[in-house]
Amino acid sequence: MSIKLDGKKLSFEIQERLRDEVTLGINNAKRAPSLAVIRVGDDPASGVYINNKEKACKRVGIRSLVFHLESKTNMTNVEELINKLNLDDKIDGILLQLPLPEKLDPQKLISKIIPSKDVDGLHELNVGKLVKNEAGLRSCTPAGIINLLKSQKIDIQGKRIVVIGRSLLVGKPISLMVLNLNGTVTITHSKTKNLQEISKEADILIVAAGKPNFIDSNFIKKGAVVIDVGIHRLKNLNNATTQLCGDVVLKDVISKVFAYTPVPGGVGPMTVTMLLVNTIFSWQKRCGISSTVEDLLP
Ligand code: NAD
Repeated sequence: MSIKLDGKKLSFEIQERLRDEVTLGINNAKRAPSLAVIRVGDDPASGVYINNKEKACKRVGIRSLVFHLESKTNMTNVEELINKLNLDDKIDGILLQLPLPEKLDPQKLISKIIPSKDVDGLHELNVGKLVKNEAGLRSCTPAGIINLLKSQKIDIQGKRIVVIGRSLLVGKPISLMVLNLNGTVTITHSKTKNLQEISKEADILIVAAGKPNFIDSNFIKKGAVVIDVGIHRLKNLNNATTQLCGDVVLKDVISKVFAYTPVPGGVGPMTVTMLLVNTIFSWQKRCGISSTVEDLLP
C-alpha cells in the first residue's frame, strides 16, 4: 500500500510544537511574535487564504495584523506601508498577499520588504541565501514539501528528482532545496520536450504546472514518490457544486507509487505552517533568542 504524505496531520504536529516554542520564548522576548499581512483589493481567494493564515497564527500564539488597501492603491502607497512596517520593531514578518491588482509590480514591492521580515522567502537576498545553501527564511510551499518528505524519512540524497514547473514561487526554490540536499535534479517547464520520458525517470516527481489532472500513471515510474502542488477548483457538470483537484490524477497513480500527497490535505496546509515557522524564526532572531526552528527550514 502506498504512503499518504499527510500535510494536515504534519501541520497539526508542527503547529503544536510552534505553540510551545512561542510559550517558552515569550519570557525572554517580552512580547508575542507578530505578522503583518498586506492585502490589496478584494480577490475572494485571497480573503480565504488570509483567514486561514490568521486562524493558524492564533493557534500558535502569533499576533496577526491585516492591512487592507483598496484595489486602486498605487505602488507608492504600498511602498509607504511596507516602509512603516519595516521600521516597526514589534513586527517580525511582512507578507504581501498575492495576486496583486495588475498595475502593481509584486517583485518590486517584495524587494522593499527588509529581508529579515520577508516571511514568504521571496526577497532576492533570501533567494540568494537559498542558492548559497545558507540558513535563512525560505519560500513556504517548497519548505513544506521538504518537511513532508522528511516526516516519512524519504531520503533525497542521490535520488533522481524531476520538478515540473519553474516558477519563482515553487519550481525554482524546490529545485534548489533538493539540490542542496544532494538530489540530482531535472527542472522541466512548458517548453520541455519528452516530458513523459523525463518524468518516468524520477524517484521523486514534484508537479507544480498549475494544470488540473495533467499527470497520470504514464508519467510515473513504479515505486516513485509523487508530490502534487497544484490546486484547482473545478465546477461539476451541474455548475452548482465544485470539486478540488490537483495536477495529478491521484486515482490513476495511487497503486503505482510508493508515496503521494493528497489534494486537498497535502502540500497546502504545509504552506501555511511554514509561514508560521518563518515568522517565529524571525521573531527569535529579532528578540535575541537562539533559534529553535532552524531544523524546519531546509
Ligand atoms: P505558475 O503558473 O507560476 O508556474 C507553472 C509552471 O509550470 C511554469 O513554470 C510553466 O513553465 C510550467 N508548465 C506549464 N505547463 C507545462 C507543461 N505542459 N509541461 C511542463 N511544465 C509546464 O504556477 P505556480 O505558482 O508555480 O503554481 C503551480 C500550481 O501550484 C498552481 O496550481 C498553484 O495554484 C499551486 N500552488 C499551490 C500552493 C499550495 O500551497 N498548495 C502554493 C503555490 C502554488
